Amino acid sequence: MALKLEPGTRLVVATHNAGKARELAEILENRFPLTTAGELGLDEPDETETTFVGNALLKARAAAEASGLVALADDSGLSVAALEGAPGIYSARWAGPGRDFTLAMSKVELRLEEANAQDFAAWFTCALAVAWPGGPAVVVEGRVDGALTFPPRGARGFGYDPIFVPEGGAQTFGEMNPEAKDAMSHRARAFAKLKAALL
Ligand code: IMP
Repeated sequence: MALKLEPGTRLVVATHNAGKARELAEILENRFPLTTAGELGLDEPDETETTFVGNALLKARAAAEASGLVALADDSGLSVAALEGAPGIYSARWAGPGRDFTLAMSKVELRLEEANAQDFAAWFTCALAVAWPGGPAVVVEGRVDGALTFPPRGARGFGYDPIFVPEGGAQTFGEMNPEAKDAMSHRARAFAKLKAALL
């Protein structure tokens, strides 16, 4: 069965975050009328899976079933080699209810100190899932490798950007201009794969 998205298909983005929905719409070149799980008043499912792919699929399937529309969901985060992949799928949760990423970045630094780590290798992952109501799903994953640096530098990005230097670079994601980050990010790489699969 060919899983292709016809231009004009109405999609529900499984997020309550309007900024994320806008970003996804732009990446899809505004070819699809989008609504969000937030606008439709859908519940956000608990992210109970153990992988980025698992959580993206879980969110897309839940939104597709609840809305009857084709649903798109993402799950992303930072993984640190010396911390066995942590914070990983818990990246948002490490920032606490106040979404405090200064706190989350200090936690990463503290854990590295406690482990007496010499290896600062890290990567961002983005999983994207598209699910049809009552039907199949497609899921892809993009990744960007790099190394952590402390103290945090740069105020241009979000989340863990100020401590992440991509491979071959000198600036953190927080210092880079956004176009440069978007050209190489885990999210861009996942979207390139999704487009190749669906469009
Ligand atoms: P999600 O929105 O549930 O997928 O959570 C993603 C988490 O990973 C958030 O805490 C983000 O701050 C972090 N994260 C994901 N992508 C990036 C990125 O490009 N830069 C910095 N942090 C990111």
